[in-house]
Amino acid sequence: MLNVHRDICGYCGCCVSVCPEGALELIDAYLSVEQNCTSCGICAKVCPLGALEVANEKPI
Ligand code: SF4
Ligand code: SF4
Repeated sequence: MLNVHRDICGYCGCCVSVCPEGALELIDAYLSVEQNCTSCGICAKVCPLGALEVANEKPI
């Protein structure tokens, strides 16, 4: 499960472009996470602000 800290997110869009599932979408100032998110944690690693957090991250 991916948690988005919306108070921290700066809407840069970095996470959207790295998601292999295309599960993230930035609509104006709202980052949405679709159901097809696999909780891979890639987006959380690239977020420059640490606004994304995977609750059950799988070891790579
Ligand atoms: S955890 Fe992985 S699948 Fe889910 S939104 Fe982030 S990059 Fe995409
Ligand atoms: S990379 Fe981080 S700051 Fe940028 S849009 Fe995604 S969650 Fe927000």
